Amino acid sequence: MDASRLPPSSASGIRAARPPRPAIPVDRPQAVWDEIDVAAPGHGVPTRVVLLTGAECTFTCAMCDLWRHTLTGPTPPGALPAQLAAALAAPGAATAPWIKLYNASNFFAPRSVPPGDLPALAALVAGHERVVVENHPRLCDDRVPAFRDRIRGRLEVAMGLETVHPAILAWLGKEMTSDDFAAACRRLRTWDIDIRSFVLLGLPGLDAAEALHWATEAVRFAASHGVRHCTLIPTRSGNGWIDRLAADGLFVPPSLGLLEAAGSAAVRVAGAMLVTVDTWDLETLPGQCAACGAARRQRLATMNLSQRPEPLPPRDCACPVETPA
Ligand code: SF4
Ligand SMILES: [Zn+2]
Repeated sequence: MDASRLPPSSASGIRAARPPRPAIPVDRPQAVWDEIDVAAPGHGVPTRVVLLTGAECTFTCAMCDLWRHTLTGPTPPGALPAQLAAALAAPGAATAPWIKLYNASNFFAPRSVPPGDLPALAALVAGHERVVVENHPRLCDDRVPAFRDRIRGRLEVAMGLETVHPAILAWLGKEMTSDDFAAACRRLRTWDIDIRSFVLLGLPGLDAAEALHWATEAVRFAASHGVRHCTLIPTRSGNGWIDRLAADGLFVPPSLGLLEAAGSAAVRVAGAMLVTVDTWDLETLPGQCAACGAARRQRLATMNLSQRPEPLPPRDCACPVETPA
């Protein structure tokens, strides 16, 4: 595949390709669940994940489908504290030392999180040892340490690095360069705030070998800039624009085998940084069958916790498995 064959991406074109936006209520979070997040090799921590309902992000990235879970207008003041209170009232919250507040946008964008709600949100997470919020690298300004000072636990900011392929990062329309990401990391480290990052595997314009190379380079880049935890996410269709590219042969979803290869390569270059693969919806990735899929997906979940390459499960099917990095 040739990245130069990709059609120009513009916010208007990306928006025009979207399927209809589902109507979503603002009086409750999108979803709440508990998971085990890795804190150190072999050591997991119960973590409550809260998907808050608020305003759409003002960036319009080519691969992003998070707008489906957002409002068209600004987040109403008071809505997020009410949603978070409901999420914390659900069973199990008291036993989750860590909490992730993901708002399908940027936590420090006033349109998405009204500044007047920050004290209430901070008070609600006072019982958590680690509080993870997501934010765009270019929005990591003085509001971040101000929120750090309001919470009792340790603040972690999750940022999408996505890729370090310069042309594809520009094409994504995220309005940032890898230098912007690096600068945000420097500021966050100066403020003694932890950093989590996301790297996309299998972006449009890359064949499998290129995808493996660029995902590995992005993980290496994240590690070299002090990221504490980096997650590899298979690029998915579903936002309209990526589906259109797929129909034109310009996007092929990464296979489970490619994710296995990228996960193993990432573990090898991560150094002290924790590295995981996103296990959400893995059964939809191509390149697996009923005979091998469950064991291979379980192996990735095991690697997420162990932080070391695990042996491939025995199999007698013909599915392609991990290719050497
Ligand atoms: S900055 Fe993040 S939330 Fe906003 S459009 Fe891009 S990927 Fe989606
Ligand atoms: Zn198989």
